[in-house]
Amino acid sequence: MSALSAAALDFSAQPKGARARPLRARLDFSALRHNAARAREWAGGAKFWAVIKANAYGHGQFEAAQALSGLCDGYALLESENAIALRAHGVRAPILLLEGFFCPEEIPALVQHDLTPVIHNAAQLEMLASASASARPAAVYVKLNSGMNRLGFAPENCGAARRRLAELGIREITLMTHFAEADTDLGVAAAMDITRRVAARDFSGLPQSLANSAALIRYPETRGGTRDWARPGILLYGGSPFGVAPSATAEDLRLRPVMTLESRLIATQTLRPGDRLGYGGTFCARRESKVGIVACGYADGYPRHAPTGTPIAVAGVRTQTLGRVSMDMLACDITDIPEAREGAPVTLWGKGEGGQIAADAVAARAGTVSYTLFCAVAPRVPRVIERF
Ligand SMILES: *Cc1c(COP(=O)(O)O)cnc(C)c1O
Repeated sequence: MSALSAAALDFSAQPKGARARPLRARLDFSALRHNAARAREWAGGAKFWAVIKANAYGHGQFEAAQALSGLCDGYALLESENAIALRAHGVRAPILLLEGFFCPEEIPALVQHDLTPVIHNAAQLEMLASASASARPAAVYVKLNSGMNRLGFAPENCGAARRRLAELGIREITLMTHFAEADTDLGVAAAMDITRRVAARDFSGLPQSLANSAALIRYPETRGGTRDWARPGILLYGGSPFGVAPSATAEDLRLRPVMTLESRLIATQTLRPGDRLGYGGTFCARRESKVGIVACGYADGYPRHAPTGTPIAVAGVRTQTLGRVSMDMLACDITDIPEAREGAPVTLWGKGEGGQIAADAVAARAGTVSYTLFCAVAPRVPRVIERF
């Protein structure tokens, strides 16, 4: 017989009380509010959904929703279970389900909890048709495929979708699209041409929801007027949708980091010329070097593919990682930082005692975007709300 109790098998359970390992994700929700105010400026008179999918990009959906209360016009996320949990936490604002429903059984709960689904394909229309007339949502979004080729009706099929919804008694309709290239030099021109054509032909007089963070910042023509809704996500968390592109960093955009991933040095090493460091010995010292060992590894969510040279800050000084990231640790160069002894504070990203490092800069070195860093912070990392 196993001696393990059911509780011991609950993999989501986290130990209670103080944690001695120094790694923390500190959350500054006043920065989230600051960034929401920036979104409001970019939105002009338009409304905006705060996108809080994926547990608010790893920041905690309940805390994020509460911090943004009154500062956004509604919340957008994926799963109806999470939306219903927000309702149970007292959220009254509109909620948009970005992929709509996945099966007809979900529809009654959407109506009961006043959730607005995105309808992106014919199968969802038929699920709506199968629901009884009194059990259909009053409002839906219709998603147009304007070139992303992921979800949405083809431009030529949007009119039929709109008419089908009218037959089903659903009249509060918003035309939605999602831009594939708003964060690149390709921009939104081609997608906007398609959207304008479909809007004029099939959705005349109805509100629209077009802009993600990149479009909202760079293409004011996508935000619309007072009846329209933008959908910013990453900018709320202080990441730039443009990464570290010249003059479009989070700092340039006057966005503040919400999450700070911070730790401490738990050991130091001295390398002689020719000594190698870490798994695979991918870093080899050319001079006598001092190395700091940081309590943070890929099992914490730090990207394993971050190469030697990824920015990190120790004791207030910006430096770089060295060698391969291991499961529980990574190494950094402290040769020229005399204050960097065991116990010295380290900032992996964000703004902390260890210094300031843009998540976008870490992401760029690791060949990814700050979205993935925030979403990947592992459950074993304690989240500490520093400011609400
Ligand atoms: C995730 C998402 C957004 C937010 O995108 P950001 O780039 O984070 O601003 C907006 N719209 C849809 C449909 C999304 O899935």
